[in-house]
Amino acid sequence: MRTELKHYTGGEIVEGFVYNEFEGKGLFGLAGRLVIQPEYQRNYIYNDGKKDVAVIESLLKGYPLGLIYFNVADGGGLEVLDGQPRITSVGRFVTGKFAIHQDGREQTFSSLAVEDQAKIMDSDLLIYECQGTERDIKDWFKTINIAGVPLNTQELLNSIYSGPFVTAAKAEFSNSQNANLQKWSAYVKGDPKRQEILAVALAWVAGSYGLTVDAYLAKHRQDGTIAELKTYFTSVIEWVGTVFVGIPEKEMRGLEWGRLYEAYHNNSYNSAALAADVQALLGDPAVGSRKGIYEYLLGGRQEPQLLMIRLFDDKTKALAYQRQTDRAKADGTSNCPLCAIGDNANKDRIYRRDEMDADHVTAWSKGGATDLANCEMLCITHNRTKGNR
Ligand SMILES: [Zn+2]
Repeated sequence: MRTELKHYTGGEIVEGFVYNEFEGKGLFGLAGRLVIQPEYQRNYIYNDGKKDVAVIESLLKGYPLGLIYFNVADGGGLEVLDGQPRITSVGRFVTGKFAIHQDGREQTFSSLAVEDQAKIMDSDLLIYECQGTERDIKDWFKTINIAGVPLNTQELLNSIYSGPFVTAAKAEFSNSQNANLQKWSAYVKGDPKRQEILAVALAWVAGSYGLTVDAYLAKHRQDGTIAELKTYFTSVIEWVGTVFVGIPEKEMRGLEWGRLYEAYHNNSYNSAALAADVQALLGDPAVGSRKGIYEYLLGGRQEPQLLMIRLFDDKTKALAYQRQTDRAKADGTSNCPLCAIGDNANKDRIYRRDEMDADHVTAWSKGGATDLANCEMLCITHNRTKGNR
């Protein structure tokens, strides 16, 4: 990869700056010669009133903005490889999109003193212009860690598999103006700007083919349509809303709904009964994992381990041990009730406390409570055997 160090002024870089409010990105600079946010770039994430303001304050104090990298595209045009949030911050400020505080007053670019305006427009920006194969540049881009916020996995994947598919997918799933976002956020966790909703949508559809997200993107990179991705995602969301009716609980956010859809969407469920079951389990103090409730019910209550049912506490176990051991000694039998009824070498063995563990007499899944009345100490061998049933 060939690189060349160039100097541009802040004014040159933001000449003809265009900012797209809907996509939240700076589009052009250098009078149209510079593409500020090529499709493999992440969305602008500095517009928080802190990082963008800090960029302007740095320029006003005469501090350097740090190295910026451009890619020299075929045909001589330039694309920002690294530095997009900083450049977009300058462009947005110069075009009046946000204000800074100076001496206790709000100042937009146009209300700044002329000499302060000049500090921004005449600032000297050091820029490396890089030229290389697409592969070179993407490999390099993958290894850089931009000052500020490091790229996450999906942002890297978007850069590696840039093309019409990623562009269309971002327009749908990474667009904070998308009217569906609120509905999605009941079931999916993440920040669309950081590509976290897109990451989930891709993981679900890729998972339905047993593919990794990488492999799915490689396969569809040049597709002009994201119909399958969109349809699959929508099907999963609609299915969850049909099976678990009512206002979604916060426990439903971020579950692996794609995997659950694949496993269970051909089953039929009584949604009213399911809603009552969910509420009962949410109200059960023995349920240790509330997030496990949905899969437990979808699977027909076959896997109570999903609920991480709380175990008996030490005090309860000590009381149960004492109760059983006193009775066993009086009767001359083992204090493990299962050993006691068998015809074996352990039928009158008195186990030590640390040789036993607690078990639900009536299984939790059959309505048994996690209290002393339902607690039985078994020798470790019998406890394991029973636990595996
Ligand atoms: Zn036993």
